[in-house]
Amino acid sequence: MNNPGYSDLGSMQDWDLRVTHLLDHAAREYGHREIVTRWADGSETRTDWAGIRRDALKMTQALRAAGVRKGDRVATLAMNHSRHLVSWYGAVGCGGVLHTINPRLFDDQLDYIANHAEDKVLLYDAVWQGVVDRMKSRWTSIEHYICFDSADHAPAFEDWIGAYDGDTTWDTGDERDPCMLCYTSGTTGHPKGVLFEHRSTMLHAMTGVTPNFFDLDSRSVMLPVVPMFHAASWGLPWAGTIPGIKFVYSAVNDPAVLCDLMKREGVTHSAGVPTVWLAMFNYLDSVGQDVRDVGPLKTAIIGGSAAPKFMIERLMANDVRVAHAWGMTETSPIGTTGAYPWDWDQMEPAAQVELVQKQGRPAFGVELRCVDLDDPERELPRDGVTSGALQVRGPWVIKRYFKAAEDAVGTDNWFDTGDVAVIFPDGTLQLTDRTKDVIKSGGEWISSVELENAAVGHPAVAEAAAIGIYHPRWDERPMLIVVKKDGAEVTGAEIRDYLGGQVAKWWLPDAIEFVDEIPHTGTGKISKKDLRERFRDYKLES
Ligand code: ADP
Repeated sequence: MNNPGYSDLGSMQDWDLRVTHLLDHAAREYGHREIVTRWADGSETRTDWAGIRRDALKMTQALRAAGVRKGDRVATLAMNHSRHLVSWYGAVGCGGVLHTINPRLFDDQLDYIANHAEDKVLLYDAVWQGVVDRMKSRWTSIEHYICFDSADHAPAFEDWIGAYDGDTTWDTGDERDPCMLCYTSGTTGHPKGVLFEHRSTMLHAMTGVTPNFFDLDSRSVMLPVVPMFHAASWGLPWAGTIPGIKFVYSAVNDPAVLCDLMKREGVTHSAGVPTVWLAMFNYLDSVGQDVRDVGPLKTAIIGGSAAPKFMIERLMANDVRVAHAWGMTETSPIGTTGAYPWDWDQMEPAAQVELVQKQGRPAFGVELRCVDLDDPERELPRDGVTSGALQVRGPWVIKRYFKAAEDAVGTDNWFDTGDVAVIFPDGTLQLTDRTKDVIKSGGEWISSVELENAAVGHPAVAEAAAIGIYHPRWDERPMLIVVKKDGAEVTGAEIRDYLGGQVAKWWLPDAIEFVDEIPHTGTGKISKKDLRERFRDYKLES
């Protein structure tokens, strides 16, 4: 890494941007800052940054003894808790690549991703024992199973690492080495792996803490509801080390538990998809309280789907800053957030809410542009009116998917996000539509194309289209629009039963509508735009 061309003039030091520096820093400078976990069984444990590092070093030894070598994938199937945090650093510390698996995926996807990733070790929560039992014979590369919180079926994490003393050093190497793998299950076909590097992760973490983003400092107490298995938990396990924040983890997502923890632990920051905040509101309403009753919450990070107006209004009315963020797994995931503009304090409250509803402005390092939907080289004006395909590039934006033969970017590294947006003259982004054929329900993807393919397998179905319909709790739920074959008779319930055998239960459409004809585009594809327009005001039965 030295710069030989100028070293005779003087130079700066080599210090590779490797994520283990983050934990070393937190343990050294904020060693006693607490990490609290509320476990699924209701018990609570406390450790601190020094303890996380000690355990991660022990885990590094355990992984090496298990034969994990540089670049090998170490997977987790787990909720948010301190041992999961240890395993992030333990996995990368031995030179491995951390692969966080989303337990909500269904069997064929779980089968595909663990085998595609060639995971060597799997660490899991006892609550997912059923998944492990079901999948074990299909997962061909996993050699070691470790259970985070039980010794009933596999070695227990604490016992496993307890056999080591932590007297070791982290793996060293190039800052462009991979450190983490997350699969994103978007449109059609198999999920795709996004491989983060040490350098990209470190730069992303340094941005995550800044005031315009998550606004973390040493006083911050963060309860991340965004799962550690989703989009790298928005980078929080890495970023939180920089100012040595206190983490409060809950292994269950029950709003009563979360509100209780927030109050007792003095939570100042929390992060989650809109569904999470809505569940919290509903709980607070049921007990006659409001957000300000649950403690000193000051920043609510909302992303994954658009934050609705009433949510922003209610949080702001309770003196909580809403950091409305847009990003995707392919962007590590930070892209934009609703940072305060310079004239924020002069703005009327209604104008502030209107601004926060948009997806904000990009972080330093993230470049955005909108291009013509039919011509990805033709950049559109930033006039707040002209919408187009949103493209992004920067040091923590994907170039090539895991094991893919080709790059995923166009000329000059521009990556097509599959989102449709407008950009305002001040750089504010507003999403208006999507070109990718997916439905996002409660922050997780449902592939409309896979639903359609499953539905047309029914002998009475001629054609089927799936679109997302607004749902107050899940943001979107799938609706299936069906054209019957001539003379065939079938009911919505029969189609639903038929789909039940093929897709995950939470993918099943909330509504099935029969039509005579499905609209098509000029190139013969189903016109989702027209369908979304037609069913814009459709109300799902509650
Ligand atoms: P995450 O859920 O963490 O954002 P994903 O990779 O699962 O990561 O999903 C990314 C996609 O989610 C984006 O391309 C966009 O379609 C949608 N999305 C993310 N944030 C927002 C937001 N604030 N408003 C609207 N849609 C969003």
